[in-house]
Amino acid sequence: MAKRPRIAVVGSANVDLTTFTDEFPRPGETIFGRSFDLGFGGKGANQAVAARLCGADVFMVARVGNDLFGPATIKNFERLGIDAEHVKIVDGASGVAPIFVEKSGQNRIIVVKGANDRLLPADVDAAAPMLRQADCIVLQFEIPLPTVYHTIRFARQHGIKCILNPAPGQPVDMAQVAELDYFVPNETEAEAISGLPVKNLEDAKRCAAALLKAGIGRVIITLGANGSLLAGRDGMEHVPAFKVQTVDSTGAGDAFIGSFAVFLGEGMEERQAVTRANLYAGLSTTGVGTQKSFSDRAAFEAEWKVSGR
Ligand code: ADP
Repeated sequence: MAKRPRIAVVGSANVDLTTFTDEFPRPGETIFGRSFDLGFGGKGANQAVAARLCGADVFMVARVGNDLFGPATIKNFERLGIDAEHVKIVDGASGVAPIFVEKSGQNRIIVVKGANDRLLPADVDAAAPMLRQADCIVLQFEIPLPTVYHTIRFARQHGIKCILNPAPGQPVDMAQVAELDYFVPNETEAEAISGLPVKNLEDAKRCAAALLKAGIGRVIITLGANGSLLAGRDGMEHVPAFKVQTVDSTGAGDAFIGSFAVFLGEGMEERQAVTRANLYAGLSTTGVGTQKSFSDRAAFEAEWKVSGR
């Protein structure tokens, strides 16, 4: 039996409010939409759910609002068996993402960070006794950057593995993230952070080289249907994706990060962990939605038996 990893996610929890509509109202106009879906989201929460479904013990550090969504978000973590002791309710609104989907499938999203902006370095310190027990801490950019940087320092001090998904992409203080174990952007984020175009594998290699030169130890750039690029000072390797029937790729990056943390935590060799995360993330694109499209470990292993390499 592989070791059961303990993964802590210090990150965002949102509620996705998806409205499907044939057209958009003009200013001042009210129209009927076609349908509506409410789902739990936020990159931090999504990655925590992926890690939990892959079989890890998962601990979430987050802030939610004292509205309808805050307690419901905490209940959802608990229902999934995610430790939510450090998901606290603060005054004000929860993080939400109103999403409007047109007939063509094109979407427009407005993320309101709400309570996620209230997750502060002191809250990370308050969770320190729990965080010190983690094998790996997973971070994204939907909480204040000083909290992200503080958590990276904490992980380093305590010798805990640390993975950063710099999403959504924004300017990064490279000195603050240099001591990470893994920096995992997608193509758009890699572009936003490095200022270099990332349209294909060759671009991705140039971009990874620049990030390594800026002081980051290991970089994984996820490349959608092209898989991912694993890069370190000892070389680079393209790890191809799996052929799947993609219907909706939202949340693929979150599935990749959450599952990669678990595979690595189980003691798998890095290349193997990336290959498996490619399959786990690929499978998530065969279903609609984010958390709802993530497989559990048994379903993943069944697929791995057939397609694994
Ligand atoms: P994000 O969701 O952050 O934009 P990507 O689109 O790069 O991230 O996807 C993350 C990972 O999901 C990829 O590295 C790949 O392994 C897998 N993936 C995404 N789209 C597909 C696809 N169409 N076919 C197979 N695998 C995919």
